[in-house]
Amino acid sequence: MKVAKLYSFNDIRIEDIPIPEVGARDALLKTRACGICSGDVMPWYIEKKAPLVIGHEPAGEIVELGSSLVTRHSSLSVGDRVFTHHHAPCFTCRFCKRGDYVQCETWKKTRIIPGGVSEYILIPQTNLENDTLNLPDGLSYEDGTLIEPTACVVKALRRANIRHGDTVLVIGLGVMGQINILLARKYGAGKIIGTDMVTFRMEKAKEFGADDVIDVSKNNLVDSLKELTNGAMADLVIVGPNSADAMKQGIDCTGAGGKVLFFTPSKPDEQLTINPNKLYFKDINIITSYSCGPNDTADALELIQNGIVRAEKLITHRFPIEKTAEAFRLTAEAKDSLKSVIIF
Ligand SMILES: [Zn+2]
Ligand SMILES: [Zn+2]
Repeated sequence: MKVAKLYSFNDIRIEDIPIPEVGARDALLKTRACGICSGDVMPWYIEKKAPLVIGHEPAGEIVELGSSLVTRHSSLSVGDRVFTHHHAPCFTCRFCKRGDYVQCETWKKTRIIPGGVSEYILIPQTNLENDTLNLPDGLSYEDGTLIEPTACVVKALRRANIRHGDTVLVIGLGVMGQINILLARKYGAGKIIGTDMVTFRMEKAKEFGADDVIDVSKNNLVDSLKELTNGAMADLVIVGPNSADAMKQGIDCTGAGGKVLFFTPSKPDEQLTINPNKLYFKDINIITSYSCGPNDTADALELIQNGIVRAEKLITHRFPIEKTAEAFRLTAEAKDSLKSVIIF
C-alpha cells in the first residue's frame, strides 16, 4: 500500500509498505480521505516525530474486522463508514474520570498505524473501542475528516465557556479560526471579529458569521479592536498563530473580566513574559486547550450532522496521495486555502 512519509519538512516521499496485520481485536480501514492539519505543518512539532507517515484526520471504510467487538458508540461491521481518532483514552484512570482525556497515558500512547495518509490504516483495539465513530448517512468521508479538527474547537470553547453575547476576537483565520467562528456563533457569541492578513481568509470569515474583520497587514490590531468595541476590547480572544508574540497580543486584546484562549502551542524555545498585574487587576484568565477527547469527537459529529460545520464550507483543495507534498506546502503557506485533504 502507498503511504506519504515525512523525513523532514521539505522531504515527503510516497513509499510502498505492506498492509498491517490485523490483530484479533483490531480493524483495518480502507482510507477514503484524510485532512492535512495546521499542526502537521509546524516544522519543529512534526520534525521531532520524523520519519513518520503524516496525517491524523482520516475517514474510510472498514474492510476487515478482527473481532465482533462493540465500540463505545455503536457496533461495527465490515463495510461501515467511519472516522477514527488517532488517540483514544482508557476511561478508567484519574484523568479520564474527570474528563481530562488528553492527559491519559493510554491516550498519549495510542496511535493509528501507520498514520493517516496511507491507503489502509490499522485501527488498534483501544482506538476502535474508545474513539471510532460511524458516519451517519448523508455525511461524506470529507465531512468525516473534519471531526477531529472540529472536536478540538468543541473542547477549546467548552473550556473557554462563552457567555451569551460575548464579544469574541479570533486571531488567525485559517480553517481552525473559521471553525472557531462557526462554533462561537452557534454557542451564543455576540459580536465576532476576525483578524488575519489574507483577504481570501477574511472574506471567508465574514461568510461564516464574523461581523467585522481587521486586516493586520494594514492596521494595528489593538487600536482597531478598541475602535470596533468602543474601548471595551474582547470578552474572549482565541489565539490561533503558534507564537508567544501572538499570545501576548491576545492578552492585549482581552477586556476586563475576559478570557484569552491559547488554541495552539508556541514555538518550543519561546517564553511568554507578561506583567501579572495586567491580568490580576482586570480579572483576565488565560485558558489553554490541547487536542480533544472522545466526548468532543461525538459532539463534533453532531455539529457536522447539523450542518454547522461542513466539508463544502471548509475544504478548498483536494489532492491524490501522490501530491501530498503539494497539499502540505499549500497548508504551510497559509494563503488562499482553508482545508486541504488527500482523497483516495
Ligand atoms: Zn488535526
Ligand atoms: Zn485514562
